[in-house]
Amino acid sequence: MSEQRILLPADVTMTDFNSIEPLFIEGYIDRGGYKGLSKAINELKPTDIIEEVKKSGLRGRGGAGFPTGKKWELVAAARGDKNYLCCNASEGEPETFKDRTLIRSNPHQLIEGIIISAYSINANNAYIYINEKYTEEILILERALREAEDNRYTGKGILGSKFSINIEIKRCPDKYVAGEETAMMEVIEGRPAKPWQKPPYYPANRGLYGMPTLVNNTETLSNIPHIVLKGSEWFSKFGSPKSPGTMVFTLSGDVKRPGIYELPLGTPLRKIVYQCGNGLKDGMLFKAAFPSGPSNSPVTESQLDIPLDFDSLKGIGSGLGSAGVIILGDSTCIVDTVLGFSRFFMEESCGQCPPCQMGTVKIFRLIQKIEDGNGDMKDLTDIENTCSSLKGQVVYCHLLKGAINSIEGVVKKFKGKFESHINERKCIYKAESTLIHS
Ligand code: SF4
Repeated sequence: MSEQRILLPADVTMTDFNSIEPLFIEGYIDRGGYKGLSKAINELKPTDIIEEVKKSGLRGRGGAGFPTGKKWELVAAARGDKNYLCCNASEGEPETFKDRTLIRSNPHQLIEGIIISAYSINANNAYIYINEKYTEEILILERALREAEDNRYTGKGILGSKFSINIEIKRCPDKYVAGEETAMMEVIEGRPAKPWQKPPYYPANRGLYGMPTLVNNTETLSNIPHIVLKGSEWFSKFGSPKSPGTMVFTLSGDVKRPGIYELPLGTPLRKIVYQCGNGLKDGMLFKAAFPSGPSNSPVTESQLDIPLDFDSLKGIGSGLGSAGVIILGDSTCIVDTVLGFSRFFMEESCGQCPPCQMGTVKIFRLIQKIEDGNGDMKDLTDIENTCSSLKGQVVYCHLLKGAINSIEGVVKKFKGKFESHINERKCIYKAESTLIHS
């Protein structure tokens, strides 16, 4: 395995995605698999593992970048008769394939991570929460879970210890909001995917069935066996000081070689565009990048050397999210692209919070008017004012914030493109964007 990787043995171009061969249990054990679990169960106390994960500096790969060890500590210390663990593999963000790649290529790496994490927080029940449309990945996980049980890595008294663990697959609806962690609690308990109002309760203190629940995503948990086996010091040699480790990036849009690339956190955006993606396709020039799909402000050409990590991107008003990087070339209409984003948010709003339900519809209609050549300058001002007024509204989840971040960011950085649509009374780009917009 390259010195620059932890989780994937090689890059995966999008054309190769369907032919990924899963590493099943014999191959995984041959490569040192389940040694981290054996070390955890036989040599370490749960508190030792939490301490090691804290020392590693691992931050959640699902979007917020919250310190993983600290989250575990909160769940382990919370009051409850039993604890639960949920692995979020819902991956509902457009143009994101990394959880599926990790599951397709190495399901036991994830399962081992789940078992060690469950042992650390004293959870005897864990769920892998996965989008119901990912049927291939569900089959791979089902087989891997059977293998883990047959080899006594799951079940009662694993590896001769007193610790027991049951892991179950839970299918979730193919909705972006179903990936929100409290919507996940609802779905697992058999209700529709609707996020909770927070505070007062968060999954860490009162999650599944009212009990403390740890929610980590697929990539976060896949890192755990490596940290336990090789140590926090080894892990923190990858990446940047405040964002240690690697990240699995999904690169899509106007690049020649879209795919899934594992890179140290802090790798410059320029490298992923021009080395991994092999530059822009069809002779296009770089226009913008959305480093976390449709949920954050775009990065422009003058910012191409920005390190891709949680804090650097936050520092320029954008964000890393779950690292679904979308690249736009100069022949792609950014107004049409953001129209696709706004449609996505409008359709995905679960409708519980009036500002989100009404605000996403209003913004979509205004952008559509401009893209169709029927808008005027008042519509552009209306988009800006609507985004501004929605910012302070109380809503239950981050969907609305994501919509505002990207739309406001695009209007601010590419205002001239909206103005030219208004002045020319048409979209000046002939080729239609194929991103999200359907
Ligand atoms: S912010 Fe939007 S998606 Fe989130 S709970 Fe409220 S209505 Fe639903």
